[in-house]
Amino acid sequence: MSVIKVMSENLANKIAAGEVVEKCASVVKELVENSIDAKAKNIKIELKKGGLEEITVIDDGIGMDEEDAALAFQRHATSKIYKDDDLFFIDTLGFRGEALPSIASVSEVLLETCQKDVGTLIHIKGGIFQNKTASPARIGTKITITNLFYNTPARLKYLKSEQTELANTVAFIEKLSLAKPSISFTLLNNEKVVVKTSGSNNLLKAIHEIYGLNISSNMLDIYALNDDFEIKGFICKPELLKSTRSHMTTFINGRVIRNNEINKAINDAYYTYKPDGKYPVVVINIETDPTLVDVNIHPTKQDVKLSKIGDLSKLLYDTIKNRLYQSLLIPKGIKEESVKNTDFLNISNELSNNNFLKIDSDLINKNDLEETESFKQTTFDFGEDTYENSVKNEEFKKLVLYPVGIAHGTYIICENDEGMYLIDQHAAQERVNYENYLDNIKKEEITITDLLIPISIEFSNADYIKFMSNKDKFTNLGFSFEEFGINTIIIKKHPTWLKTGYEEVSIRKIIDLIINLDNNFDIYKFRENVAITLACKMAIKANEHISMLEIEGLLKNLVKCDNPYNCPHGRPTIIKFSIYDLEKMFKRAMN
Ligand code: ZN
Ligand code: ZN
Repeated sequence: MSVIKVMSENLANKIAAGEVVEKCASVVKELVENSIDAKAKNIKIELKKGGLEEITVIDDGIGMDEEDAALAFQRHATSKIYKDDDLFFIDTLGFRGEALPSIASVSEVLLETCQKDVGTLIHIKGGIFQNKTASPARIGTKITITNLFYNTPARLKYLKSEQTELANTVAFIEKLSLAKPSISFTLLNNEKVVVKTSGSNNLLKAIHEIYGLNISSNMLDIYALNDDFEIKGFICKPELLKSTRSHMTTFINGRVIRNNEINKAINDAYYTYKPDGKYPVVVINIETDPTLVDVNIHPTKQDVKLSKIGDLSKLLYDTIKNRLYQSLLIPKGIKEESVKNTDFLNISNELSNNNFLKIDSDLINKNDLEETESFKQTTFDFGEDTYENSVKNEEFKKLVLYPVGIAHGTYIICENDEGMYLIDQHAAQERVNYENYLDNIKKEEITITDLLIPISIEFSNADYIKFMSNKDKFTNLGFSFEEFGINTIIIKKHPTWLKTGYEEVSIRKIIDLIINLDNNFDIYKFRENVAITLACKMAIKANEHISMLEIEGLLKNLVKCDNPYNCPHGRPTIIKFSIYDLEKMFKRAMN
């Protein structure tokens, strides 16, 4: 019996409004998602010239009977949705009742499909039915699209180069492979394999197959559950960062989605584990009741709205942060060799640095540029740390590091049973200072002390006005001052957490921050800035001599930190060379 139902005109119009097929990747997307809906376990995509010449998708799904095969090319026929209400309960990948007829109207299509003992072959050109014959019995569907947009020159000229069209399709298939690790995907271009996954149903294995060993060996698994959401997947160690968000992959109920708030929560969880403008590699699936998800009706978009986004963000943030706290995150001095299928194309590893294959697709990450500005890291929306009582960095605390010397007046060399460590003395002390300052600044009760010699500070006119209009930010930190003549103040009391002997530099730094405050004052951000600025200023510089005793003190304090691995700007404090790495470098160990 036919499983395809004819929709009401009304719904058809709703969908038609959003119907878009604009590039090879969107054709591939429609065809492949049809294969997934047909329960295929193996999906093979063969492109000629990146799809500009030909796109073929072969699957081993349930196939179609003769009636469905013909109906598939009629407008408003779909097996996915057939009532208005159903639009809001979509739990399949989408609805593409409109897509096949649209594709067929601007190309030449050959559809070969079979459900039981006899297959059907349909040939359509420019939307005009050519013929229908019986075809060999091979369960599944094979569909070939040639000469896309041949009859619509206006749209044809919007197709990009082979490399760009291919890059878009590769990026799409890679994300889909991560969303559906139980399906084996093979993507070929001009008969060369570009993506190949095994369909092992093991997400880490799929990550390995897509991104290679360097990434898959540096992932941490995460899992969490609350009343509405279950999250499961992998996040990267902070040593593995990318310069775009293209490696942040999130799914809701197995569907690739894009949501700024989710991305922000993930990114915020890495606060100070990484520099601003760098993004983690994550693959996270979120399972939830479909009624909480509002899928944008535009079929090529992945934007979703969630009714309990706040709860989900908090869950993601806490889970990732806690996972980072539990893990030993010392980066290795020697990277794993990257082994991956698609190295010859080098598309997936460093898409961002790869100008010849820049992605321009809105299928993937169109919002990257627009978001960048508002996407600065701020961990503050989630308030205070919820892990105050759990032990952080247990793994790191177990480390015993014996300092043996200093290289270039900057890098402390340590050793233990496992190998050799290099510690950046400035970065390490900056981290220690930062956590100290932040703790003190956050305290409800401030201890205040008199300055032995009051400090007078003279401002320019503009700075004086700016400072005076924000003076509460200064006094709230525990400072007291009096106005003293023209554009001058005299500071008499300060909080005790200022480093002794450095009161004046510290105060001047803080005043600078206040003068440069922008209009959206955020107390958490301000405290962060004060802590980071003072931490850097007060830390030993590179090339500044420190004694063995001071080194030992520094190491002891570093171990106590919440995040001993990075300075507050996200640079690493410590790097490890395992004994094996050293032996390998000196060819004592082969392979
Ligand atoms: Zn610094
Ligand atoms: Zn730093």
